[in-house]
Amino acid sequence: MSVLIKNGRIITAVDDYMADIFIAEESITTIGNSLDMVADQIIDASNKYVIPGGIDPHTHLDMPFGGTVSADNFETGTRAAAHGGTTTLIDFAIQAKGTSTLKALDIWHAKAEGKTAIDYGFHMIVTDLDDNRVHEMKMLADEGVTSYKLFMAYPGVLYVDDGTIYRAMRKAGEDGTVVCMHAENGIVIDEIVKKALSEGKTEPKYHGLTRPTRMEAEGVHRAISIAEVANVPVYIVHLSCSDALEQVILARNRGVHAFAETCPQYLFLDNSYYDKEGFEGAKYVMTPALREKWNQDELWKGLRFGHIQSIATDHCPFCFKDQKVLGIDDFSKIPNGGPGVENRMSLVYNGGVNSGRISLNKFVELTSTAAAKTFGLFPKKGTIAVGSDADIVIFDPNRKETISINNACTHHMNVDYNAYEGFEVKGFTETVLSRGKVIIDDCDYIGKKGDGHYLKRGLYGGMK
Ligand SMILES: [Zn+2]
Repeated sequence: MSVLIKNGRIITAVDDYMADIFIAEESITTIGNSLDMVADQIIDASNKYVIPGGIDPHTHLDMPFGGTVSADNFETGTRAAAHGGTTTLIDFAIQAKGTSTLKALDIWHAKAEGKTAIDYGFHMIVTDLDDNRVHEMKMLADEGVTSYKLFMAYPGVLYVDDGTIYRAMRKAGEDGTVVCMHAENGIVIDEIVKKALSEGKTEPKYHGLTRPTRMEAEGVHRAISIAEVANVPVYIVHLSCSDALEQVILARNRGVHAFAETCPQYLFLDNSYYDKEGFEGAKYVMTPALREKWNQDELWKGLRFGHIQSIATDHCPFCFKDQKVLGIDDFSKIPNGGPGVENRMSLVYNGGVNSGRISLNKFVELTSTAAAKTFGLFPKKGTIAVGSDADIVIFDPNRKETISINNACTHHMNVDYNAYEGFEVKGFTETVLSRGKVIIDDCDYIGKKGDGHYLKRGLYGGMK
């Protein structure tokens, strides 16, 4: 199967030029002017951008949490991602306490294998790492799981203490892998939550009010300091606020390999959503919580100046009707998380490029290239180059859509609300190729379950 994409404007994290692309055997084999080659399929990309497929390095599909399971599984979640122009996900396998991380990897392979629309990899959430389990981290790396996530939040569930964090970081530093941190002081936050509940404060808005930005900043500071001593790069996931960003900038200024991602919810939503009528605010209960609106400008500045390297979604949807209601009488029981995997590319393009906050190249870097580099997928993924996988999005910069659960082009996620309901975006994914196969054609999914493959990722920064 060969494909020729003609007349497109190719945009990568560094390039911007007009050319044709020839694809054979799943990868890009030729890029040039007016290519006159025989192909099984010709796509005219006139007046469109041709960009690398999006990479979302932070999703939670089919994830047990808070007494329920996230609403998108590997079939529905990856299909929705594809609709939105994302061609690679890195999801999280979770170690059950007292059991092997390798067993967790098997469980997550079983959840995903043969079900996905696009390629995928795994990070490992480590919940329990005593001395005689540390060696498993290298075994995971050999299986292509070259990054781990540890939690400073959720005591009693996913939380690990600072000793565990240090132990994991030391080993990651030795092996050339990366530690991702959920950096929030969960111990203090739990105390604040307990006090609020004892005062009868049970509504969704107290989720936001019990998670001060200072407790995120403290977690970020601590995570980075431990990483600094362990001599390992650290990646702060879902950074949400200016206070936390300040800590990343301070660390980077003294030469620490600290990296951060933020998410569309922190760039486009704010804590006023918790004041919605009735129980509606529960739709926005996620961790970290939505912040005061002024933080958004600071995050955009962080993105523009390179202090924040990527934009992931932390896609972790729970249905409003039968899942979010678990916390109707107690905000701390509302399953934490929201949907977003499908809408990321358009939101960031519209809010970033159209608003003049970031360049087109930066848009590609933030939504694809940076994650590929950080997580051992570059240059197979994350760019358009000869030899790279033909994961390509043909993006129409002029097409307008209103994001809504009722818009058949903007909502394929298996969840009964869209966090960006009513947002108008200009710039929309038109055609998506996953390893050279067209899987999205103008809002229609034409791929099949199981097209996506597991990605054995390389070491951090391409170290071999
Ligand atoms: Zn997450």
